[in-house]
Amino acid sequence: MNYPFDLLYRVKKPASYIGSEYNLVKKNPEGKVKIALAFPDTYEVGMSNLGFSIIYDIINSREDSLAERLFAPWVDMEGLLRERKIPLLTLESGRSVKEFDILAFSISYELNYSNILTILDLCGLSILSSEREGLPLVIAGGQCTTHPSPIIPFIDCFAIGDGEEVINEIIDVFKEWKLNSRDKKELLLSLSKIDGVYVPGISKTVKRRIIKDLDKAPYPTKPLVPNTEVIHDRAVVEIMRGCTRGCRFCEAGFLYRPVRERSLETIKRLSTEILASTGYEEIGFLSLSASDYSNLEGLARYIKESLIPSYISVSIPSLRIDTISDEFYEAIGEIKRGLTFAPEAGTQRLRDVINKNITEEDIFRTIDIVSREGW
Ligand code: SF4
Repeated sequence: MNYPFDLLYRVKKPASYIGSEYNLVKKNPEGKVKIALAFPDTYEVGMSNLGFSIIYDIINSREDSLAERLFAPWVDMEGLLRERKIPLLTLESGRSVKEFDILAFSISYELNYSNILTILDLCGLSILSSEREGLPLVIAGGQCTTHPSPIIPFIDCFAIGDGEEVINEIIDVFKEWKLNSRDKKELLLSLSKIDGVYVPGISKTVKRRIIKDLDKAPYPTKPLVPNTEVIHDRAVVEIMRGCTRGCRFCEAGFLYRPVRERSLETIKRLSTEILASTGYEEIGFLSLSASDYSNLEGLARYIKESLIPSYISVSIPSLRIDTISDEFYEAIGEIKRGLTFAPEAGTQRLRDVINKNITEEDIFRTIDIVSREGW
């Protein structure tokens, strides 16, 4: 328990501020690189974010490092923290961020920018990086860092692209620096030499980091199980990263290129391990466009033959209306959960303009199939 009881009694969702979730990692900080991992939105949103969970797992898998989480508090909690002059604390140990080496933001949405400032302020840190001396180093990763200009004044350095590899290199450089120096400029200079790290004022160009083989990329098999309801409260396996399409309005479709897949064998292994380690009775197969997964029929068979008989409920978001076969719906028919399609525009002309490549015929064909299968 990190905050006083009487304070938690006065907020709407006290469970968001107490930590202690199932599968929580709590480490002795002695001699470790201490990273406060911040998600600039509420607990319910942040705990549903796969990237945040992956980075938490990678850092805590290292013997020499630890990651502890913090989220943007809801306005009731923020008001009370300010009123009582209590800093925002990490959920794992209840320590102030000032005791950490690195404060790392995971930024998925531009609308969260103002919450970055709120978190910095509630942690007792100067908002402007030019006014911060010493540690913690403030870094940012996640989808929004491919276009970091609006938040450059507040962040010391950015990790651009897939974070799985670059986070380890950042920790290695930090460790080396801490052994030999106390000069923050030297640290920033060393970090700027890592591929995929952008240090404002030092880096000239930066190349987005891309995990080449998603099948071999680290993936959390013991994710935290939230002790309150969150947006996506289920086991999650990312089956594919990137999207084969090029819908003109879609930021994710461009930022996560190229398309990379996990093999069906890996998906099965991860599903088994995550379901066993969490006790979840629902699993989501995540990607930008699940119906473009190259072994969709194999995945459907796995769902039908292994998951449904074990009473595991399945969610497959992001189905394209034009790529699903009768066989697929027949195979997953027993799930009978809501299906979501996104034709995006009501006329063929507009769908063509945004490069959606879906015809009216595709839409009605899919409606026919799903209604025939009982949805
Ligand atoms: S299919 Fe979906 S994820 Fe892919 S580019 Fe279009 S909108 Fe984006």
